[in-house]
Amino acid sequence: MNQITHWINGAFDRDKPERTGDIFNPATGAITGSLAFGNAATVDTAVSAATAAFSDWRHSSLTKRTQVLFAFRELVAKNKEKIAALITAEHGKILSDAAGEVTRGLEVVEFACGIPHLLKGGFSEEVSTGVDVYSIRQALGPVAIISPFNFPAMVPMWFFPVAIACGNSVIVKPSEKDPSAVMFFAQLWKEAGLPDGVFNVVHGDKEVVDALLTHPGIKSISFVGSTPIARYIYETGTKAGKRVQALGGAKNHMVVLPDSDLELAADAAINAGFGSAGERCMAISAIVAVEPIGNALVARIKSRMAHIVTGDGTKGCDMGPLVTAVHRDKVAAYIGAGAKEGATVVVDGRELKVEGDGFFLGPTLLDHVTPTMSVYSDEIFGPVLSVIRVNTYDEALNLVNSHQYGNGTAIFTNDGGAARRFQNEVEVGMVGINVGIPVPMAYYSFGGWKNSLFGDSHAHGSEGVHFFTRGKVVTSRWLDPSHGGINLGFPQND
Ligand code: NAD
Repeated sequence: MNQITHWINGAFDRDKPERTGDIFNPATGAITGSLAFGNAATVDTAVSAATAAFSDWRHSSLTKRTQVLFAFRELVAKNKEKIAALITAEHGKILSDAAGEVTRGLEVVEFACGIPHLLKGGFSEEVSTGVDVYSIRQALGPVAIISPFNFPAMVPMWFFPVAIACGNSVIVKPSEKDPSAVMFFAQLWKEAGLPDGVFNVVHGDKEVVDALLTHPGIKSISFVGSTPIARYIYETGTKAGKRVQALGGAKNHMVVLPDSDLELAADAAINAGFGSAGERCMAISAIVAVEPIGNALVARIKSRMAHIVTGDGTKGCDMGPLVTAVHRDKVAAYIGAGAKEGATVVVDGRELKVEGDGFFLGPTLLDHVTPTMSVYSDEIFGPVLSVIRVNTYDEALNLVNSHQYGNGTAIFTNDGGAARRFQNEVEVGMVGINVGIPVPMAYYSFGGWKNSLFGDSHAHGSEGVHFFTRGKVVTSRWLDPSHGGINLGFPQND
């Protein structure tokens, strides 16, 4: 049995934990590990280590920081398959998906390697006679990152490379369901030459999170998870005087206009709906078909679904299990509720049988879903696609804009003017045009609107650099050497 414990000041914590949690392999249902759950004292120890490390790290040169980041980048790239295997063993997603999330995380490390450029300030000469003004951005101190189960490598990597590059020290609280990828990163940071105490990991649940939210030594909170917890994190963290960015849940709509390429749209629906078993905050879960293409689109999606092989993510399948038995049952209950409320079950994932005790549920397609049904109003976070049929573009736009979530959306059309209008009118943070999963590149920022984000900073890109630094503006007057300065042959002013 794998024993996983905290990583503080460059070493594993050897204290016997008061509480532990089980780690499962979702493909087999077997318990594979035991995770130490920390408490307020664990957080206090980690904050002390991070505070001590911060005073040196913030003064390390940009060259030194960049060297460490480059070394870390090489180590993560070299170990990509190993990290993917750790993710699949605890999350369940297929290996290629797991490797893909490491690649997307690596892109943030590569972005952070450019930190000397990213931290450049502005300079205005002679704003008044003999007076110059310039701006600098400085690190915050120890910062906390609290991450969800669905991207155990990529989501923490949205934040920690940028935070560390900016000169902060970091405490990560990974999901208690799949903590091993972050533990592996801790060891790679050490190998890359990051000083002890700059990167720390504490494990646990609400107890540890609450201690991070209120500890006076923590300067900011970066959170990703479900909306009720994101709201709680934002309210509690800001009340304690911290800078907070809290990314929440999603219900991403894909609008398909009648002039679109239906083959492209159906392919996108499959990839964006069932990739990672729908456990992605950028998964498409609501397809808005603008008539008369509803029947043709549903038929194309249905025929593609017949080819999806669901099974153990290490065995060459297309879709793995859900993360826990409880979550699998919750998603299955939504399918039942949809059917009861009047949706047509075109493909029923509950009928799938996979041998063993894994947490499997097959891909599901519901048609004729309406806005009042719970499958539409709630985030399901599983392999369930709902088709809502409307008659006009305006009805489609109104649906997207009326929903409480505004993380990602996509439109499929061959009309550039319609796409341009949609990008302007839609109230969502990330928009795809004939692209099903519009996850921004690392040099742009990731984040949603409405109940998908609490706070005003998105992750990585320039907003990430801004979040992990605070600005200072210096107004300086240096008198001419003629005013009694050093005598280097300048004419002296009597
Ligand atoms: P979650 O909200 O259950 O947990 C997220 C983190 O919060 C975990 O580290 C967990 O330990 C902690 N936590 C859980 N309950 C808590 C409580 N009561 N008090 C304090 N901390 C608590 O989310 P999850 O199930 O791990 O992840 C799935 C959710 O994350 C989905 O809603 C998904 O949409 C969302 N998500 C959003 C984005 C985004 O960018 N907006 C990205 C990935 C995932």
